[in-house]
Amino acid sequence: MRPLSKPLLNQNFSLSPKAVIPATEMGCLEINLKTIVKNYQLMKDLAPHAEISAVLKADGYGFGASPVGKALRDAGCKTFFVAHLDEGIALRKTLQNEKIYILTGVLPGTENELIQHNLTPVLNHAGMYELWKTAGHLENRPLQCALHIDTGMHRLGFEMKDIPNARCFEGLSLEMVMSHLACSQIPGHPMNAQQLAAFQKVIPHFQRLQKSLSDTGGLFLNPEYHYDIIRPGLGFFGMHPQSLEGPNPFQNVLTLWGKIIQVRSVPKGETVGYGATFKTKRHSRLATLGIGFADGLSRDLSNQGHVFIGDFKAPILGRISMDYSVVDVSDVPESLCYPGSWVQLVNEHQTLDDLALSINTISRELSIHLGSRLYRMYEN
Ligand SMILES: *Cc1c(COP(=O)(O)O)cnc(C)c1O
Repeated sequence: MRPLSKPLLNQNFSLSPKAVIPATEMGCLEINLKTIVKNYQLMKDLAPHAEISAVLKADGYGFGASPVGKALRDAGCKTFFVAHLDEGIALRKTLQNEKIYILTGVLPGTENELIQHNLTPVLNHAGMYELWKTAGHLENRPLQCALHIDTGMHRLGFEMKDIPNARCFEGLSLEMVMSHLACSQIPGHPMNAQQLAAFQKVIPHFQRLQKSLSDTGGLFLNPEYHYDIIRPGLGFFGMHPQSLEGPNPFQNVLTLWGKIIQVRSVPKGETVGYGATFKTKRHSRLATLGIGFADGLSRDLSNQGHVFIGDFKAPILGRISMDYSVVDVSDVPESLCYPGSWVQLVNEHQTLDDLALSINTISRELSIHLGSRLYRMYEN
């Protein structure tokens, strides 16, 4: 297994969030919008002939769909994707003129809201096509939509055999035909070529439409995979596009801060936290942080991760509880650890990918759980 973080040598670490945050806050997500835009720029360089859209489902992977959407819009991004109708309605408040696609599509009873908020569903099966066509009849105009074709992932999308040609979609204003790669993060996976071949087989039926096949991982495949519009998500947030193989071309955008609320000394042989899962091996100085799994700090990090105080590392001891976690600050100068001082749980030296790897999950599962109770701060 990869070490959790690179060694730190004379790094110039900050000791607290850049902005003043309310005294009641126990934790804070510092999100660098400028870096998100830099990651966007890199995507544009990787696929110079394609449009780069932004997938901001699940509140922008936990980073905030609205502020991230606004920053990307201001940087030139014109097309956005979310998963659910509610996410689209929320994002429409920020992005009035941009295209917003709803990946989940149209469900019975949601037609009017889609129309009212000018949201474009991605049709995933014949039932959705019927619903949307009927809604168009009632509106007296063909409604805009995209078409998702299942080329092998078998999650969403029309089956290949049900897609004879575009004429079957009369009565609708089809704008884009898309599919989704199951293994784009693994460049050598044979599934990529199979899905590309399947996509190539259906698109001649949809000559005039925009075509889309790639997510972030697809940006790093052969340019054949790029087509007209790329649908990246994770790359904006500095997550690794290729299952952590090789250096990450994207930059970390997140600093996660937690506040120390109590510091104590305990003798050797004492236990820490619920279940008494950790026993001190020496006389130790412990700091209790005001953030726990209710803030999205996965309980799997119990006895696992580190936090940073300046450029000192302090290991997490015992179980992470709902609202608190305990770290060993025995080796950190006392002047840096006191009630009210801050520690970093995520930064460029310990990214979400690093933490995820250590607990057998992926960075997205961690990021979407952050922020429910944490203060969010955006750097421009
Ligand atoms: C989530 C998603 C994306 C974005 O994927 P990333 O791997 O985060 O770039 C693109 N297309 C569809 C259909 C998705 O569900």
